Amino acid sequence: MQHVVALDEGTTSARALVFDEQARILGVDQIPVQSSYPHDGWVEQDAERIWQAQSAALRRAIERSGVDIASIAALGITNQRETAIVWDRKTGEPICPAIVWQCRRTADACRALLDAGHGPFVAERTGLVIDAYFSGPKIAWILDHVPDARRRAEAGELAFGTVDSWLIWKLTGGRTHSIDVTNASRTMLLNLETGAWDDDMLSLLGIPRPLLPTVAPSCGVVGLTDPSVLGREIPIAGVAGDQQAALFGQACFRPGMSKNTYGTGCFLLEHTGSQRPVSSHKMLATAASAPTGRAFALEGAIFIAGAAIQWLRDSLGLLESAAESAALAASVPDTAGVYMVPAFVGLGAPHWDSNARGIITGLTQAARREHLVRATLESIAYQARDLADAMEADSGAPLRELRADGGAAANDFLLQFQADILGCPVVRPANVETTAAGAAFLAGLAVDVWSGTDEIEGFWKADRRFEPQMDAARRDELHAGWKKAIHRARA
Ligand code: ADP
Repeated sequence: MQHVVALDEGTTSARALVFDEQARILGVDQIPVQSSYPHDGWVEQDAERIWQAQSAALRRAIERSGVDIASIAALGITNQRETAIVWDRKTGEPICPAIVWQCRRTADACRALLDAGHGPFVAERTGLVIDAYFSGPKIAWILDHVPDARRRAEAGELAFGTVDSWLIWKLTGGRTHSIDVTNASRTMLLNLETGAWDDDMLSLLGIPRPLLPTVAPSCGVVGLTDPSVLGREIPIAGVAGDQQAALFGQACFRPGMSKNTYGTGCFLLEHTGSQRPVSSHKMLATAASAPTGRAFALEGAIFIAGAAIQWLRDSLGLLESAAESAALAASVPDTAGVYMVPAFVGLGAPHWDSNARGIITGLTQAARREHLVRATLESIAYQARDLADAMEADSGAPLRELRADGGAAANDFLLQFQADILGCPVVRPANVETTAAGAAFLAGLAVDVWSGTDEIEGFWKADRRFEPQMDAARRDELHAGWKKAIHRARA
């Protein structure tokens, strides 16, 4: 019996999961990782701590699973994307805190690029919109603010990496400096078409090439773990950013297949095949993971989804638990005309409006707690509908089915309303650990633990399928009300 271990380095914790050949999970460990917020809108983490948490979780998960280290055929890595780390190649020490994807410190620099008219060029080369979210501007910030960093970067003394690169560097004892193509596609430095670093983007953002890792496919051996990590060399064979790993873990291998992850925010990805997609509707075009060759996806990101439920619970005290929201929402037939737009940090795709703010509309004396809770859950589904509409406009084909995962996908009311408002089935898999599974599948495919995507598809089982039950007229009426509410949140 062979085993595959997935490392899942998220924003709030580092996890490790041990899978067997039937993709069953034999052991899990999770260690929290703290963020710090030194200024308004800034988010940082200690890269050393990320590594310590991840390596400890790796050892503990293996211990818990009881498997023999000799049976581990490969490691896979999936990670929070866009977070930027710069370290000294000689000492392996980070030269400053990691700048986390959520950090807005580069917003002014991005505004300047937009004002200078670079938006269309950046979209054409990288598939991305210019936003502080992505790694490239964060790297430029580090080079401009850490003493001597720019000179040292040009001299080849420093290394940049996203969290996957950093973990690979640490796991291999500094022998491998690589980045997987899905993480690279979020730096704003990758030419999405060719899959190589783009010289024009490097010069636009002022990033010296010697800083950059080698771009590697998601599936394939990039290095061997140093014996100091687990006592023997183990191939690191699958790497993907968290959302691309979830797309793979949901067995969305063919064009048109889509998943939505309902966590703090929402990330809807649609596989678009081996041709690079172009969005005319402000979706991101991004690299997807493939066992061989190249694959692409359209992606829409919503900043506040499950976080709005947390807000009802923690800030308003309307809920005891997030799970309670489902029964409360189902206890009323509708929202009594109430709409809630949780634009707490502006709106992401497809609006990209950082000035929008949250609002509640349609209040009357009839509105009760249940209506507000229901309107908040519905807002998650409406936001996903806006993404699906934009993707449909880009791809010309309507969504046929949406695979759901993430913490809030446990909410049956939400998934039923999602199916109703999309007019297409929403399916929740039995294994909701799709992100870790995606990394494990990529690694296992690379070292022949599994034969191909057909075998992986066999592991994917539905837990529950939510069929649309709402008639089209009602759906359109409700959605028209949402559009009005969005308009007001933006005004
Ligand atoms: P992340 O990976 O982004 O930290 P998770 O996938 O763990 O998030 O999901 C946690 C989020 O899901 C929280 O914002 C929480 O409010 C929300 N959530 C969890 N369970 C439910 C539920 N049953 N109904 C609605 N929202 C939920």
